[in-house]
Amino acid sequence: MNIHEYQAKALLRDYGAPVSDGRVVLRAEEAKTAAGELDGPLWVVKAQIHAGGRGKGHFKEADAGDKGGVRLARSASEAAEEAKKMLGRTLITHQTGPAGKQVNRIYIEDGSGIQTEMYLALLVDRQSSRISFVCSTEGGMDIEEVAARTPEKILSFSVDPATGYQAFHGRRIAFALGLTGQQVKQCVNLMGTLYKLFVDKDMEMLEINPLIVTDKGDLKCLDAKMGFDGNAVYRHSDIAALRDETEEDPKELAASKYDLNYIALDGEIGCMVNGAGLAMATMDIIKLFGSEPANFLDVGGGATKEKVTEAFKIITSDPNVKGILVNIFGGIMRCDIIAEGIIAAVKEVGLQVPLVVRLEGTNVELGKKIIADSGLNVIAADDLSDAAKKIVKAVKG
Ligand code: GDP
Ligand code: MN
Repeated sequence: MNIHEYQAKALLRDYGAPVSDGRVVLRAEEAKTAAGELDGPLWVVKAQIHAGGRGKGHFKEADAGDKGGVRLARSASEAAEEAKKMLGRTLITHQTGPAGKQVNRIYIEDGSGIQTEMYLALLVDRQSSRISFVCSTEGGMDIEEVAARTPEKILSFSVDPATGYQAFHGRRIAFALGLTGQQVKQCVNLMGTLYKLFVDKDMEMLEINPLIVTDKGDLKCLDAKMGFDGNAVYRHSDIAALRDETEEDPKELAASKYDLNYIALDGEIGCMVNGAGLAMATMDIIKLFGSEPANFLDVGGGATKEKVTEAFKIITSDPNVKGILVNIFGGIMRCDIIAEGIIAAVKEVGLQVPLVVRLEGTNVELGKKIIADSGLNVIAADDLSDAAKKIVKAVKG
């Protein structure tokens, strides 16, 4: 689960990390008052969307102006004007995709004088099963680009959970970033604070890009991106309350309401599978036979007819889906229930694309009979490769 920059900065502020003063604005009428509450002489007006690259982005609508989603202003009224131009408009960045994202919130901040911009992140490193720090002197730009062109400018190391964060970790980062004097101590403190926040709130990712040295020589977090482990959010009601459903993929949101494990992907074959392992195998075999999955979808072990119907609706609502592969192994799940769910869903939403169904396990004969008797145009398959070959053939012609 991701949150907005202004929410992430409120958490940082609570934990004592250095951030600028700022106000969030939801409606154009609030912009003037919000900007007036900040001191100046520089204001930063920032579009709040769950995507990075806002500064280098652009707006779809001409009346939003030709600047990106992060704008500097020299007066409170100019800041309010910029906020009004961006609210309700569509910001396109390299992370939003070509459709962009509507800007429903603006963060107006006290502007900082910048000496240097650096990069800092904490993340869960799956290889070492530890929390890792990543830092670089190349801040303010795409870390992917730095990693590709000048990997030697990135320092990364993990923290032993038995010792937790130690001052030497912070000093290592400080020296890698070329910090001196009081900045070293600030860095040691800040890294400890970030590590604690990361662990306390069950984060998956915390990125400060840029972390800056201000014109006064102090460290400050100028941007903040946080991602939380969705499976742990139930332990943090304060984090759960920050969820902004308008930022989420509507299909993933619908799926979460029905307790379906669904992740949208870029391919053309919609998959409905039970069990995460079988879902992974199904995606692999679709690729093996030359196509790409449009989603990962695990309907779970004990899915009901309603859940199957909902899953089917979510898959068919994706315009990229050119064919559907249902691959179910009925263990706890009964194949006849799946068959009934598919038929109910098709009756409700129709079927515009080829559908291959492979059923195996409990009540498989009954399941196959229900589908055969339904008169639906379903291609039956017997095993995993047979099913994948048939759906790829049906889609590619
Ligand atoms: P992003 O483009 O979505 O990553 O948004 P950021 O918050 O990182 O802002 C983009 C860039 O705007 C930063 O790298 C800075 O160069 C600039 N910027 C942001 N805040 C300030 C500020 O307070 N003062 C100045 N001078 N520049 C800022
Ligand atoms: Mn940034």
